Amino acid sequence: MQQPRLTIIVPCYDEEEVLPTSAKVLGTIVTKLIQSHQLDRESKVLFVDDGSTDQTWPIIKKLEGQSERFCGLKFSRNFGHQNALMAGMQVTGPTSDAIITIDADLQDDPNVIPEMVARFKAGNDVVLGVRNDRSSDSRFKRWTAETFYGMMRKIGVQLVPDHADFRLLSQRAVSALMEYSETNLFLRGIVPQLGFPTTKLYYKRRPRFAGTSKYPLKKMLHFAMDGITSFSIAPIKAILSVGVFISAASLFVMLLTLIERLIGDPVDGWASLMTSLWFLGGVQLIGISIVGEYVGKIFAEVKHRPRYIIETNDYTASEQPAVLT
Ligand code: UDP
Ligand code: MG
Repeated sequence: MQQPRLTIIVPCYDEEEVLPTSAKVLGTIVTKLIQSHQLDRESKVLFVDDGSTDQTWPIIKKLEGQSERFCGLKFSRNFGHQNALMAGMQVTGPTSDAIITIDADLQDDPNVIPEMVARFKAGNDVVLGVRNDRSSDSRFKRWTAETFYGMMRKIGVQLVPDHADFRLLSQRAVSALMEYSETNLFLRGIVPQLGFPTTKLYYKRRPRFAGTSKYPLKKMLHFAMDGITSFSIAPIKAILSVGVFISAASLFVMLLTLIERLIGDPVDGWASLMTSLWFLGGVQLIGISIVGEYVGKIFAEVKHRPRYIIETNDYTASEQPAVLT
């Protein structure tokens, strides 16, 4: 019986410290599944080099020489994690029955991959890896993540808490995902919108075994802002409420000033005047910057620029076997 062909997509940005070990672990998992006749022989691990500045690409080339199981895709420069995932899916999706995306540092437990495959075979198009234990993340990282998920829920964006980018997608789920053409990508927001039979798989998140996080605070905040403004205009609506509140408050202040002018020393009002001036100035600037964020987004979208540019593509596969669906 024909078995499904799986491609594991691994985004890599300056991952020379972890890559040899990660490749070994992932390669072994795939090989075992092939040998036990659970996966097609052409199942592969694809490393997407997102414009690394270290030895990542030479290491990928070396891996390619070691085993036909490994192949690489190289961007012309750094385009970001989400685009690396998108490129991997776009390139391998048409010739794979299913793909799995996993970070190069293996913080997401690769040992649940066989179970992901089993759930795919049981009829699921989407298998979401969900962290049920984040004790290995710093307190700050957990706090920011919780705040972010909470905020997203409040503004009406359905995210699966503690699901990042460790997931399996069937071929038809990948091809549906490719229909989303926005330049600013937030995959974990889009995937739950795809529909299809979906299941969650819980695992324990581990600390990075080597190297450093490629998501410093600035990048993380940027990512969060992207997530919010890609899915909701609630922040713009919030500006209106703040505006109404402040206008009402300023009526009250006006009244106070008037009374003060009539009965007190007029110079007294200077403090309240300055305070409200600064306060209103601040609120206006926040408002403008939020609107600006959306305008910037529209600007980026209408230009229709490519999400990524591929410099080298070493992925090859024969026609995908007609297995499931
Ligand atoms: N990554 C990438 N491009 C980037 C930043 C990160 O491809 O611009 C990859 C990185 O190599 C890793 C994954 O995205 O495989 C997640 O990054 P990291 O582990 O540094 O993030 P964290 O786990 O700290 O959130
Ligand atoms: Mg990581």
